[in-house]
Amino acid sequence: MGSAVTTSDRAGSTPYPEDAPASQTLFDRAQAIVPGGVNSPVRAFRAVGGVPRFMARGEGPWMVDADGRRYVDLVCSWGPLIHGHAHPAIVAAVQAAAAQGTSFGTPTEGEVELAEEIVRRTPVEQVRLVSSGTEATMTAIRLARGYTGRSKIVKFAGCYHGHVDALLASAGSGVATLGLPDSPGVTGAAASETIVVPYNDVAAVEAVFAEQDDIAAIITEAAAGNMGVVAPRDGFNRRLAEIAHANGALLIVDEVMTGFRVSAGGWAGLEPVDADLFTYGKVMGGGLPAAAFGGRAGIMSRLAPAGPVYQAGTLSGNPLACAAGLTSLRLADDGVYKRLDELAATVSGLATDALTTAGVPHRLSTAGNMFSIFFTEADVVDYDSARTQDAAAFKAFFHAMLSRGVYLPPSAYESWFVSTALDDAALETIGAALPAAARAAAAAGSSS
Ligand SMILES: *Cc1c(COP(=O)(O)O)cnc(C)c1O
Repeated sequence: MGSAVTTSDRAGSTPYPEDAPASQTLFDRAQAIVPGGVNSPVRAFRAVGGVPRFMARGEGPWMVDADGRRYVDLVCSWGPLIHGHAHPAIVAAVQAAAAQGTSFGTPTEGEVELAEEIVRRTPVEQVRLVSSGTEATMTAIRLARGYTGRSKIVKFAGCYHGHVDALLASAGSGVATLGLPDSPGVTGAAASETIVVPYNDVAAVEAVFAEQDDIAAIITEAAAGNMGVVAPRDGFNRRLAEIAHANGALLIVDEVMTGFRVSAGGWAGLEPVDADLFTYGKVMGGGLPAAAFGGRAGIMSRLAPAGPVYQAGTLSGNPLACAAGLTSLRLADDGVYKRLDELAATVSGLATDALTTAGVPHRLSTAGNMFSIFFTEADVVDYDSARTQDAAAFKAFFHAMLSRGVYLPPSAYESWFVSTALDDAALETIGAALPAAARAAAAAGSSS
């Protein structure tokens, strides 16, 4: 599929102007009363400059901004929208659920169905629904500590697990994008319980366990996607499970990004790993706020009210979120994952061809159908190597794509995400935008 599409200067050759008056007006209003004008930092375009585009609506592969300009969406709400925007079945499911009442604060059938779907697809035996990936990892850590009676956590530099205090040390995502040190407001006590080691470095993990007892868990992204995409080396995740278990600690695999995106069962569907707890989010909410954590029954049963480790949520298992998530997962059959893989190969192939033609140093880095293009010649295996990127080249590339109607992640430290909604018109738009964007990157690059 998409094999007929090539890069060309035909379509999309009339760039949108650099200013975006309607977005600018909204951004000005927002900045007066919302810190930085956004409700999540990367949305502010700080890494690439310019006016963040305020979106008005979406349809299939497209988003339309407040100025009425149309963009092919390669962010997909940072991963959740594997079926594209406003998929009719998901919209209908949410409308039907809303008509029955938006929240009850009681158990509902939809929660049971969504939990059953997750358990059917993944290694987890029991699951608890929450509203954000942050809540999922925060509680997985509390549970690991409660279960083991230990306090320390091992995490990897450049891995992002939400804005949990203890996990913001050397985090990826917006922390990487904005080049922030560890966040003020996180106490020394919280930070001191987190041990940060380089990603993909088994020896560093072994050294930590040789020196320290009191480690409750290792937490890792199933495949790193928040320092840009960096896949685990062959056997890395498996070794983490062995090391943790040999030392009486747990392994928490964070599948908030990979879960139900890279396969029906997430990264675990591509590479079985003997983890104790898994976290999910993004795709499982179908574009509404839903996330989950789950694992072995013997560990999960320590959660309240079955056990003593407390966790709760007013809107946990919200009926609209469950309806959207369940419909999205039920649509995601083997054909959908095959198509996502093909589209990721098509789009990444178009981009790397254009960059090669323009002579821009770059590295394609993939993990299933997630991928990033690092603007560097270095082999990217961890956060330090990811940070060898040429920020100026990425910035020029991003804006050249945006002005030709392609919406990329506004940061070099994020994954590109495809949806099955990408059709020939969308692929043509991408193919048409790339040559000029690659030339812009070449002109801006520090090595040119
Ligand atoms: C997005 C993400 C989170 C945080 O999820 P939120 O819903 O934004 O709180 C946690 N872990 C990973 C791997 C993520 O990609």
